[in-house]
Amino acid sequence: MPIRILPPILANQIAAGEVVERPSSVVKELVENSLDAGANRIEIDIDKGGAKLIRIRDNGCGVARDELVLALSRHATSKVATLDDLEGICSLGFRGEALASISSVSRLSFTSRTQDQSEAWQAEAEGREMDVTIRPAAHPVGTTVEVVDLFFNTPARRKFMRSEKTEFAHIDELVRRIALSRFDVTLLLRHNDKLVRQYRAASTVQEQERRLAAVCGTPFMHHALAIESEHSDVRLRGWLATPAGARPQNDLQYTYVNGRMMRDKLINHAIRQAYDELLGPDRFAAYVLYIELDPRQVDVNVHPAKHEVRFHQARLIHDFIYQALFSALHQVDSQEPLAMSE
Ligand code: ADP
Ligand code: MG
Repeated sequence: MPIRILPPILANQIAAGEVVERPSSVVKELVENSLDAGANRIEIDIDKGGAKLIRIRDNGCGVARDELVLALSRHATSKVATLDDLEGICSLGFRGEALASISSVSRLSFTSRTQDQSEAWQAEAEGREMDVTIRPAAHPVGTTVEVVDLFFNTPARRKFMRSEKTEFAHIDELVRRIALSRFDVTLLLRHNDKLVRQYRAASTVQEQERRLAAVCGTPFMHHALAIESEHSDVRLRGWLATPAGARPQNDLQYTYVNGRMMRDKLINHAIRQAYDELLGPDRFAAYVLYIELDPRQVDVNVHPAKHEVRFHQARLIHDFIYQALFSALHQVDSQEPLAMSE
């Protein structure tokens, strides 16, 4: 075959292969966009595990009418303009690919209104040639993205979708992780028109602990130690369960780097080492940990789904986390576990 430039739809579908694995990946990308838009209320509606419908409604800044087409185009982003921006990235998104990718494997509509527009506009991507039609719509300031019939035009992907129950469980788990990353944002999750989760914005310590309990359960709260530590401009805070709160599964292990959820080998290794001898066989640590550092000290552009990071000072970060957790765990007797007021 001769060399050819891929048609846009195919290029987008190939890119979608990297980030849009299943319905929960769509929810992740869309909710991250809402958070980047400054929303403090996000409603997530799911039908049939996300195969039929994923609808995310936010009260963020919205997209102006004349930028709607761009928002849905590949490599179009308002979040980075230069290499320098990329190296100090503070937003969750930066690749400018999510909307283009998702719209190439579904029927997507994007309805939005900005503060200075008196009306809302809706952009619809019909798949095919990636062309977008725009019409007036009714919507308050903010954005609603609707993704209908995910993978309708990519049968191979569609086949990999599991049962409605399994796909929804993945979405539910994702929403838990987001709920732990932004206590200041109200999150609502509905499945087949039924309200399944409601996490109200929490500001006081009591409200935050209530949300923590809602996500992690009361047993975790009974064994959780609050931790806060700082070293060389790296901050670690959060909660970790004492060995008595160890679990039969690794289902309560949440780590965030600058607000981004992570599954990072280096961090996990440091945590495992800190617990080392303290856990019996087949017992797993439980924790919710936040690491904050200068965004220039960490590279998030490692993997399209952004699950991994690369720390410039990997050794320092590793040892700091290890030390902080080790001393917290070994001073257990002198610390008060969180008192749970219910
Ligand atoms: P990225 O998030 O990497 O910039 P996306 O394809 O996810 O790429 O989004 C493209 C652009 O569309 C964003 O940069 C942003 O300007 C705009 N956008 C997307 N979703 C929203 C939203 N919910 N509210 C406001 N703007 C949005
Ligand atoms: Mg995005």
